Formats: sequence, structure tokens, C-alpha cells
Amino acid sequence: MIMEDFVIGIDLGGTNFRLAVVNPQGIIADRMHCPVESGRGKEVILEDLISSIQTLVKSQIPNQGHLLAAGLGVPGLIRSEEGIVTESPNLQGWINFDIRTPTEAALGVPLAIENDANCFAIGEFWRGAAQDANHACALTLGTGVGGGIILNGQIWRGTDGMAGEVGHMVIETDGLPCKCGSRGCLEQYASATAIRQFAVEALMSNGETLLKRWQDNLEELTAEDVFEAAREGDKVAQDLFRKMGYFLGIGLTNLVNLLNVEMIVLGGKVSSAWEFFIPETEKTVRERAFKVPAQRVQIVKSILGDNGGITGAAYLALKRARSI
Ligand SMILES: [Zn+2]
Repeated sequence: MIMEDFVIGIDLGGTNFRLAVVNPQGIIADRMHCPVESGRGKEVILEDLISSIQTLVKSQIPNQGHLLAAGLGVPGLIRSEEGIVTESPNLQGWINFDIRTPTEAALGVPLAIENDANCFAIGEFWRGAAQDANHACALTLGTGVGGGIILNGQIWRGTDGMAGEVGHMVIETDGLPCKCGSRGCLEQYASATAIRQFAVEALMSNGETLLKRWQDNLEELTAEDVFEAAREGDKVAQDLFRKMGYFLGIGLTNLVNLLNVEMIVLGGKVSSAWEFFIPETEKTVRERAFKVPAQRVQIVKSILGDNGGITGAAYLALKRARSI
């Protein structure tokens, strides 16, 4: 049997990294994941990363395929042309860290690096929900809100590689403080953190809700619990998702008016609560955005889910392997 050559796509998060063998058609063949011990310093994480890649490559020896390149998605500000992590909010001490040189030296193949939300957008564009779109945005609704913008089939990085920070689009001028230093960012209203915060506030009032079971241990209440309550028919929990859906709709209205994209893909763990927030999001966009782009845009759920970032990183790896 002749096996095709392959790339490795990697999604590096704050608590673990996931990597996979991906064939040139974007199909994931094999995968593994490892914890990230961010307190142990970047050199240790890099060593773990390289040895995991090597383990995965060795596992492919019986198939006779060769590693062409690796692609890595990292949260934070990335200089992808140079292979440097300028700064990462989740990875302590990753400041102006040249991750490409030591990794390429150890693996003997090129390494592509990119912001993780951009990787997600590229993954959805290559093999996911936005395959037929020329212009698209992709948002990850997780602990925070990540974003990536595809224009004319290319990721839009901006002058400094910082474009697409949809989560920090201001939607409330005097709103909640955000860790970026601003106030009223979309991330504070349309993330798992926001859902949790809305629930805590709702518990301060006296309405009847299943969420009351967390009243005495609020710190244990999660967005998943609110989702579960909504599924059990809890009106208060369902209202919280409608509220989140409204704010998301305001953010998407801005995107639609600004970029006139064909498609907006929503992923991340909060997107599992789709049925509870999307009607309000759609309604808000149709009411608030210009009519033509609002009718044009399709707001769809991610197809690749957790594999979006890995798939996008694999795409960039292939691209880099072919350009060298
Ligand atoms: Zn912000």
C-alpha cells in the first residue's frame, strides 16, 4: 500500500495541545493530545511539543508516508512570516519567542505558525462550513471570543498580524471591563464567561430557576450548567442565552455592515447552545444591519468543531511545504 505524505496540524491551548496527522486532502488520520504545563516555561513546552510530533511521525512509519511540514496554531499575537510568538495571554513568558527555528531544526521540515482563531477560520474555509465562500468570518465562542476574517479566500492579518480580533469589538461604550484594557468588548457578552456572569446576576433576583441549586456555591456554576438548565426548559436560563444572542447579533451586525461577507461561521463550546441563542442573533442582524448584506449573509454552525484549528494549521503547513 502506498500512503500519501502528510502534515501535522497542532492546536496549542492554555491547558493542552492537540495534534493530528492530516493528509493533503485535509482528512485527519491519527491524533494525540498532551497537557501543557505553562508554569514550567516555554522551553519545556517546546520540548514536549517536538517529542509529541516525533511520536506521531514514528507511528506513521508502517504507512510509508513522509512528514512534509507542521503547522501550529497559538493563542495570541503571532508574526507568522517570521515564525515568532510576539505575545500570548495563555502562555506565560512567551514574549518574542522564536518557535520556528528550534522546531524546524529538530524536525527537519518547515513549520507554519498562526494565531489559533485564524487557524480555525482557515480550517472552516478549507474543509468546513465556509468551503463555498470567498469572503467569510469565523468566530469561536469559548472562554473568550476569537475571530478570523477570510477575504478573497485569504486570511486577513492586517498590518501587524492583529486583524480579526472580533471578540474585542466594542458593543457597549460604557460596558463591562475587559482583560484587553477596554470596556464593553463582545467577548464580555457572548462567551462562556459571559453566560456564567449573566447567570450569577440572575441569581441575585428572585425569579424561579433551576440555577438556584448553585446559589450557595456560585463559583462552581458554569456555562454548561446554564445550557443544561435551558435544555430542561428553565425560562431564566433560556433568557440568558437570548440575551447573549442579542449581543452577538450586535457584533455580527457590525461585521456584516463592515465586510459584507457571504458567511459567518460560529464555533467554540458555546455554539452547542445554538438553538437557544441563534434566533435572537439572526433577528438582531436582520433588524439592524443594512438590508442587502443582512440578506446575503449566512450565519452557520462550525462543521469541524474542535478539529477546525488543527485543520487550518495543517492547511498552512501544506502551503509552507509547497512554497519552500
Ligand atoms: Zn477586550
